[in-house]
Amino acid sequence: MQQPPGTEKISPDLVPVRIAVRSLAEAVHRRGGLAMPLYGGVAAADGIRLHQRCVHLLSEALDNRPVQAEVALEQEITVDMYRLRISGRCDALVDDESMTRIYEVKSFNGAASHLPPGGEPLHWAQARLYAWLYLASRPALEQIEVAVVYIAMDSPDLIQHVLTYKRIDLKAFFEDTCARYIDFAAHILRQEKHRLESGLALRFPYPELRPGQKRMMQEVVGAARQLGRAFIAAPTGTGKTMAVLYPAVKILANKLVRQVFYLTNMTSARMVAARAMEDLHAAGLSMKSLVLFAKEKLCLAPELYCDQQRCPFALAYYDHLPDALRQLFLSVHVGRDEILACARQYQVCPFELSLDLALYCEVVICDYNYAFDPRVRLARFFGPDQSSAHLLLVDEAHNLPDRSRRMYSAVLSRSDVQQAFDSVAALSPQLNQDLTRILAWL
Ligand code: SF4
Repeated sequence: MQQPPGTEKISPDLVPVRIAVRSLAEAVHRRGGLAMPLYGGVAAADGIRLHQRCVHLLSEALDNRPVQAEVALEQEITVDMYRLRISGRCDALVDDESMTRIYEVKSFNGAASHLPPGGEPLHWAQARLYAWLYLASRPALEQIEVAVVYIAMDSPDLIQHVLTYKRIDLKAFFEDTCARYIDFAAHILRQEKHRLESGLALRFPYPELRPGQKRMMQEVVGAARQLGRAFIAAPTGTGKTMAVLYPAVKILANKLVRQVFYLTNMTSARMVAARAMEDLHAAGLSMKSLVLFAKEKLCLAPELYCDQQRCPFALAYYDHLPDALRQLFLSVHVGRDEILACARQYQVCPFELSLDLALYCEVVICDYNYAFDPRVRLARFFGPDQSSAHLLLVDEAHNLPDRSRRMYSAVLSRSDVQQAFDSVAALSPQLNQDLTRILAWL
């Protein structure tokens, strides 16, 4: 699951919900375990380059027929009390007098023999959804060719699977997917209006403001309105945490941002923010908040060193995820104990569960890493594809330069290289020579 749906009221009867094709496909059709497939993904920049190359190769293979790339598609459907708007950009499309074919392109790393025969079912689900969005705009077309294409980092060949789908079948698939999505997400969607209204109605949770708190709140609101930054320096005990969280809730309630991330340097600071959220909840707020913990602090099978081919909490993760999320949707604040209990009950990895739940929470309290570290940053929120507005509240921001330096620096110790030398130098004269030179340099 990737992107949380956004809702805004447009009619008294229907709740509008926006969701991307990819998020819809992943929410409904993703199955199996956490273990990465044997073929690897590629970095975002490489993916863009490979997609462009793929479109060029597809055109060549079709005698230089025009292939449209990144075609924007959108479709609305009503399911129960929800008006779903599904949108996305299909990777490639050919539509001329002799052929109508839509392409879902996936780039990969490694041996083509590791690709699933016939293509990954999740990729087919995405392709079929795009195919319906296109057919819905072309009422005269009774069928369409759907292709899932794989392009490798280091091979000029495309691996292409093509099937022909009838209009009636794609429509049924689309409607079934939307109905299953609503069945999964109904609780969280139904409550969204109520959660936002609780933010609008919320009063400051303490009897009095401390000196300086009003000014801090004004600065936070001003910065959010201008999509800018506010730097706040105030002594310990002046109530900074509530002075930024309370206006953040108002900003959420007014839909200026989709989510708030309260980023801290230490676990103890996360607990302070969690207690402030408890006070807001006690004052009537029903927006969802979540504290994220490091994998080591949540792992239920540390003896397996996160071998996801063996960990019982990883093996059928995506099969059990919807039920686990549905249970957590019922809680307003989710902390470590709730995550662990739910993970045990549904046999899912608690760390991954907390990340998946974060998509549905208005306030996420977590370490700086999740927003700033290029290796562990949450791509589902801060990746190049994500355009949702976030408000970042950086606690004790004077620590950020030091932490950032560490995030962007590599460390090579002499003892690590010596260990590598002792293990492998005897295996290869070249390795022996290279490691000897590095040791001499260190
Ligand atoms: S429970 Fe622990 S070992 Fe299993 S997938 Fe999660 S983090 Fe890895």
